Amino acid sequence: MKTFDFSGKNVLIRVDFNVPQDDQLNITDNTRIKGALSTILSVVNSGGTAVLMSHLGRPNGEISAKYSLKSLVGEIESLTGATVHFADDCIGDVAKDVIEAAGPGEIVLLENLRFYKEETDGDREFAGALAELGDIFINDAFGTAHRAHASTAIIAEYFDDDRKGFGALMDAEVKSISKALGSDRATTVAIIGGAKVSSKIGVISNMLENVGTVVIGGGMGFTFVKALGGEIGTSLVEDDKLELARALILKAKDNGCNLLLPVDTLITKDFADTPAERNCPIGEIPDGYMGLDNGPESIEAVKNVLQNATTIIWNGPMGVFEFENYASGTKTVAEAIARSTANGAFSLIGGGDSVAAINKFGFADKVSYISTGGGAMLEFLEGKELPGVAALS
Ligand code: AMP
Repeated sequence: MKTFDFSGKNVLIRVDFNVPQDDQLNITDNTRIKGALSTILSVVNSGGTAVLMSHLGRPNGEISAKYSLKSLVGEIESLTGATVHFADDCIGDVAKDVIEAAGPGEIVLLENLRFYKEETDGDREFAGALAELGDIFINDAFGTAHRAHASTAIIAEYFDDDRKGFGALMDAEVKSISKALGSDRATTVAIIGGAKVSSKIGVISNMLENVGTVVIGGGMGFTFVKALGGEIGTSLVEDDKLELARALILKAKDNGCNLLLPVDTLITKDFADTPAERNCPIGEIPDGYMGLDNGPESIEAVKNVLQNATTIIWNGPMGVFEFENYASGTKTVAEAIARSTANGAFSLIGGGDSVAAINKFGFADKVSYISTGGGAMLEFLEGKELPGVAALS
């Protein structure tokens, strides 16, 4: 993108403006809009017209006021300082007329792409209709790069190589995740936590092949502990994944990967933010008790492996960090990552809850890179090719 001359051009930019909104359609978190600002400003500041296309929610091919992108116009204007024209349709004459009326340095926001089911179908004709709206195509929507949709992947076929490229956010995401995956294996540590092992199987499996140490934490740890014959009380478990957990433990051995499971946990009777009854060895949880956070020995072990890490990948909390009484395991990971980063390590954080945790504990500016793409980052870490990236590579 840095090599393009945008002056006088209509630049079609796929952004991910799928922002959370309240009942009155007020935006409750504008991170995604801010993420695309650098690309949008590059275009408008060099005299191009930025034609923005995005999805919002899941309207499933139906037009609905609730999912109209019109509600984002004010926020985009205030963040960019540019005039924003809204097109009530994302293709055809309605869109073309609005783009024609917009001047250089201005923005056109197209209506929700997913009002057409052809978008998620990856329909070629629909992608062609979108392609008619721009001289240049820029993809800056990393959050949807794992989907082969019309606007994220198929559309690229309609532009020559010198008229399409990654936006600044997409570029940073791809470079950061590639850097983490391509680092020295022995000193790379992946920390995978969260509620369910089922949602992270692909990531854990690929990490076991590519990094020296995999730390497992959070609710998903108990499926591994039970798989090894431990008593886990009423802790979170996926009984249909015990066999898989055993297979992952064997895979770690086969690949010479140090798989670090928790050794102790803070136990309590109820899933509530009340102080823990006590710390307990991980496989000896009495009936009626559940583990909600790493205990002191597990915390020390994680801190130790992070101390010598040169690359750190973190996805998923170590416990119920939303509860004050069970936040220590996750907070100490955030602290240790910040410390290693200060000492020169490269740290990549991604996935909704780890990002929420790093923000909550105030370490967001002390890590190397925070990914904006939950599902897309996970698929990248699984070793899969992302259609939105492949289409431009
Ligand atoms: P995920 O979306 O799979 O990354 O899971 C994140 C959620 O897992 C957070 O809301 C945590 O509160 C929850 N979690 C982490 N550890 C535990 C645990 N030991 N028991 C129950 N929930 C947990």
